[in-house]
Amino acid sequence: MSLSARDQQVIWHPYTQMKTAAPPIPIVRGEGALLFTETGEAYIDAVSSWWVTLHGHAHPYIAQKVAEQLQTLEHVIFAGFTHPAAVELAERLIQVLPEGQRRIFYSDNGSTAVEVALKMALQFWHIQGIPKTQIIAFRDSYHGDTFGAMSVSARSTFTAPFQQFLFDVDFIDVPVPGHEEQTFAQLEELLQQNDKAAFIYEPLVLGTAGMVMYTPAILDRLVALCQHHQVLTIADEVMTGFGRTGQTFASHYLSHKPDMVCLSKGLTGGTMALGVTSCTERLYEAFLHEDKSKTFFHGHSYTANPVACAAGLASLDLLLQEHTQTNIARISAQHAAFAQQIKELAHIKEVRQQGTILAIEFEVGTTSYFSNLRDTLYNYALSQGLILRPLGNIIYCLPPYCITNEQLSHVYKAMEGMRLLLAKNK
Ligand SMILES: *Cc1c(COP(=O)(O)O)cnc(C)c1O
Repeated sequence: MSLSARDQQVIWHPYTQMKTAAPPIPIVRGEGALLFTETGEAYIDAVSSWWVTLHGHAHPYIAQKVAEQLQTLEHVIFAGFTHPAAVELAERLIQVLPEGQRRIFYSDNGSTAVEVALKMALQFWHIQGIPKTQIIAFRDSYHGDTFGAMSVSARSTFTAPFQQFLFDVDFIDVPVPGHEEQTFAQLEELLQQNDKAAFIYEPLVLGTAGMVMYTPAILDRLVALCQHHQVLTIADEVMTGFGRTGQTFASHYLSHKPDMVCLSKGLTGGTMALGVTSCTERLYEAFLHEDKSKTFFHGHSYTANPVACAAGLASLDLLLQEHTQTNIARISAQHAAFAQQIKELAHIKEVRQQGTILAIEFEVGTTSYFSNLRDTLYNYALSQGLILRPLGNIIYCLPPYCITNEQLSHVYKAMEGMRLLLAKNK
């Protein structure tokens, strides 16, 4: 029996309607930006395998560091004990994170990094006996799939079955160009009440919403306004972190720095599951108390797993190399040139770009043909040897930094092909 047939007997895949989905494509090997099937067909991983892969697949340097760590210490309980990889990764993250981040709390994925941030923020006020219990978030945001993370995310078909179990959140509109003042006014009005604990946001790019982008200038004003009103700010850099937006963190584009930062995805270069919630010394100090009830009671079995931390250190080594920084600038420039080239063409509603993230929003008619647009585009990309996962009528490229210019041209050509496909079926 083929791997794909065996898979279909025992596996339940994420975000997949198992009744109608095509059989999964078995991948047996990866190298650079490429993924290979059993029969040797290659796919360019233009979405970094759900936004995690930074330096390419099966990177030998990360593999070596992970192997060394595995042979030295694979895991140790992280309450009452510590280990070199966790300490060194924390020290090095603090050096590169936005100014003011002083403490690292480990968990194991993006959703848990967000849960930790929300719980820290709420408990920060609770400990001081200050009744601030409301969270502010962007209406179209995505912060993960656990209940707290779902609560602060867009309410949609995905969250509908759980609606009554999600806590109440104050949503404001995403300040996309032209709507900045509207969002600013919404936040200003919310902040008239003194019950706001924190504002959580995806800085500059809302990934799952469809790579929706807004400017650093407006985010800077929103963060400043929160700080003025004593509301904590949480930058969810799970997707934007580690160079995706051109800078190491999207928060680097701002002059006002967040109180907390959530990291995962690229944290280990896409090798292992690891989450980080960082915070300022002021936040950390609020939990220091003789009274044990003021402890931050949260932890996961695999907190600060040494192997994952070793992968994080290796990935950070690679990220900070000049060669990688050059690649980030190169991809950003290639994206910008292509965006310029196609933005005025027919059937293209908008082209958005921020650093290594490029998104094209196609104009969609109302014919029934377009209700299957997502699948049509997805299958077209596969037929061209590309992994591109459309978000509705939006196609995006968020590649590993090792992608070559030739591979990028292939991606752009397929995007152009999608546009022509739309034209033909109009
Ligand atoms: C993917 C993502 C998450 C959730 O991370 P998981 O590791 O998938 O749980 C949270 N926030 C943002 C901005 C994300 O893109």
